[in-house]
Amino acid sequence: MSQPVRTIQTDVVIAGSGPGGATMARELSKKGKQVVLCEAGTYQKFRGNSSIFLLGMMDGLGFTFSKEGTWVLRPKTAGGASVVFCGTAWPPPPWLKEKYGIDVDKEVDEVYKEIPIQPLPDKLVGVAAGKMMQAARDIGLDWNPIDKWIRPDKCELDCGKCFFGCKQGAKWTAKEFVDEAMQNGTELLTKTTVDRVLTQNGKAVGVRAKTPKGWTDIMADTVILAAGGQGTPPILQRSGVYDAGQGFFADPLVFVMGTTNHQGSSYDVTMTAGTNLSDDGIVMTDLMPPPMLYAGLMALGGPSGWKSMHKMINLKKTMSIMIKVRDGLDGRINLDESFSKPIDYETQWKLNKGAALAEEILQKAGVKRDNLLKTRIIGAHPGGTVRIGELLDKDCQTPIQNCYCMDTTIIPEPWGLPPTVTIVAMAKRLANHLTVDAEAKVAVQEPA
Ligand SMILES: Cc1cc2nc3c(=O)[nH]c(=O)nc-3n(C[C@H](O)[C@H](O)[C@H](O)COP(=O)(O)OP(=O)(O)OC[C@H]3O[C@@H](n4cnc5c(N)ncnc54)[C@H](O)[C@@H]3O)c2cc1C
Repeated sequence: MSQPVRTIQTDVVIAGSGPGGATMARELSKKGKQVVLCEAGTYQKFRGNSSIFLLGMMDGLGFTFSKEGTWVLRPKTAGGASVVFCGTAWPPPPWLKEKYGIDVDKEVDEVYKEIPIQPLPDKLVGVAAGKMMQAARDIGLDWNPIDKWIRPDKCELDCGKCFFGCKQGAKWTAKEFVDEAMQNGTELLTKTTVDRVLTQNGKAVGVRAKTPKGWTDIMADTVILAAGGQGTPPILQRSGVYDAGQGFFADPLVFVMGTTNHQGSSYDVTMTAGTNLSDDGIVMTDLMPPPMLYAGLMALGGPSGWKSMHKMINLKKTMSIMIKVRDGLDGRINLDESFSKPIDYETQWKLNKGAALAEEILQKAGVKRDNLLKTRIIGAHPGGTVRIGELLDKDCQTPIQNCYCMDTTIIPEPWGLPPTVTIVAMAKRLANHLTVDAEAKVAVQEPA
């Protein structure tokens, strides 16, 4: 094992500054804890520029592929994937309470009020999103505006730059919580990759990380792993929890799109409206991939994709629907962060059903049959690799005492929905457990 060149002492060390890690840092520092937040990526000052902005923060420029060839985007930056996310909010599934006894209703309410999360008002529903909503309703789908992590008063109609971090600051990103945590005294270490958890007698006592100044030991009473669905498992594997990384899901999605003669989806707020076919595990929304992603999907789509490349000139007049389906727990993350993610028969069935419905909606909204195209599959919401009920207890503590997970790895079942509300609410719950609950326990134990 490499020897450290320096040691830092703190109360809590957190690996990863996405929604889970940033919320932990914000909540714990608010309650007086000294926090060191390690982020493998950089802190991006700029936002709202272009696809180039996206490339700068993607792991390997966005080209991370499963051994079976599924493309999974993996942003690495302060704020994690939320910096480029679509800002869609979805409450946790009922089974979290019913089956696992985890009640985060209070925390979800708190998050909804704080941001505040709400559906987009009618005045921000763009031309293409509005046409697709009407067409979907005409064919009998329950297609409605979706709750968003977006402040309507700052959002601009026809801007369409949500993917690029949102230059108006209308879209919430976890970078806001990183900033708040830093104002409360949290130390953010960027370009700092946590390698393993340091233990003594089965208890976590800190982490070893690779920093621009060399290998560093960050000693702490509490360790939080929040490096995301793909980042956390190798840290745990290196720390002796060899089962971490099994059961990986990355909800597969495709886009069905077609050119029209009016303003297309790239001007709209990402995922303005849609429907959840929950029995099938299919979510469908309006969504145009940014040009870089579109070009990548076409280039990687084989001969049929290359033939459609010329349609890029009409991107501004393209209406697009995303079909995202609930994945199974049949993937795996390896120690070197390579991964396996098969697309099984059932998943392909769901994607086909969603794509057929999307074709119908788009034609009803005015797209000609010959102008329709479907992209190749891409994976989203990577997670499920350190599940509650298996490797984690109800408080998300790992088999290593005082070491907790708080990111999409904790999700215990096939998912299929935007996970950020659940992760932020779960992080608030854990922060409370580590401070208020812990103090109450000490007070009971100490005689008056
Ligand atoms: C294009 C796109 C659109 C999306 N849209 C939505 C949406 O509308 N709604 C929604 O709810 N979700 C959406 N998601 C998913 C959502 O953004 C993620 O599920 C969420 O950000 C996961 O949070 P997390 O806490 O697991 O960490 P992540 O966001 O995965 O962040 C983990 C962080 O840890 C860092 N890290 C990794 N390894 C290490 C290490 N060893 N040491 C230190 N740091 C490390 C990474 O650099 C990263 O910054 C979208 C994702 C993408 C890519």
